[in-house]
Amino acid sequence: MCGTRVWARLAGLQRAVVERVWIGSEGELVVSARPVWRERDRCGICRRRSPGFDLGEGRRRWRALDLGTTLAFAEADAPRVSCRRHGVVVCAVPWARHRSRFTRAFEDQAAWLAVNTSKTAVAQLMRVAWRTVAAICERVADEATGEVDLLGGLRRIGIDEISHRKGHRYLTVVVCHDSGRLVWAAAGRDRRTIDAFLDALGEERCKQIELVSADMAAWVAGPISERRPQAELCLDPINVVMLATDALDEIRREVWNDARRAGDVAAATDLKGARYALWKNPENLTDRQKLKLADVQKTNQRLYRAYLLKEQLRQIYRLPAAAATGCSRRG
Ligand SMILES: [Zn+2]
Repeated sequence: MCGTRVWARLAGLQRAVVERVWIGSEGELVVSARPVWRERDRCGICRRRSPGFDLGEGRRRWRALDLGTTLAFAEADAPRVSCRRHGVVVCAVPWARHRSRFTRAFEDQAAWLAVNTSKTAVAQLMRVAWRTVAAICERVADEATGEVDLLGGLRRIGIDEISHRKGHRYLTVVVCHDSGRLVWAAAGRDRRTIDAFLDALGEERCKQIELVSADMAAWVAGPISERRPQAELCLDPINVVMLATDALDEIRREVWNDARRAGDVAAATDLKGARYALWKNPENLTDRQKLKLADVQKTNQRLYRAYLLKEQLRQIYRLPAAAATGCSRRG
């Protein structure tokens, strides 16, 4: 392998001819290159070969992956072509995505780090601003979604909301329960967001949806049951357990009221203090709360039974599906 090809390989320049390599004024490594013949004069958007238009803005640089600790750049002409579909566009280069100032290898690594490490780690390690990382992720994700149909073959999905910016903004996210993949996300948490998802899904793919798990929000259930009435709507386990916990608290209040009316001050005070002991998961109870619970077991059968029912329900979700179904039938 001759020297120039080694440099092309080191700088991650695919399908390129290296012309010259030098160290720039700030100690950076610069690899001057041009696309191989068959990659020239292609539209930056559709990559169709198109007639040349002009020389554009002259030489351009793309940041490449560091070579050791040295910053590295690819440098090349950036002429423009006149595409039949896209008009006058800067030519495509095989080593970078359109409109990017980074090589493909650099972007792929930054995107991988963004998924697998912290925000600060990726920005510091790659020596770029976080905003730049966000733009990189968008380009990498756009390309990837163009190749894979994330919404194809969905049968069992989960819809949920997550908050960001300290709870001031919301995203609606859709996951596929079969692949465990995030398949769709958009800003907002209202009917319109769900409608936008169903629109993206389209009528045909919508017909394949068999099951939708979500919380109890009407903004999810409404549009789903209108546009895919055959789909089974399921509650997320956390919501089911929450309902059971509410029911348990209702019993506690009833029992407490009974004790108060009967003039049993000691029992009423005890029950008031038992709220957290009944509400928390048993594995997280403090010693005092454990004693409290033991007290309830001794003195208040009705409340204790309600507590056990809530805990059994919680356990069902921890079992493998087959065992859990058996449990719920017996229950
Ligand atoms: Zn084009």
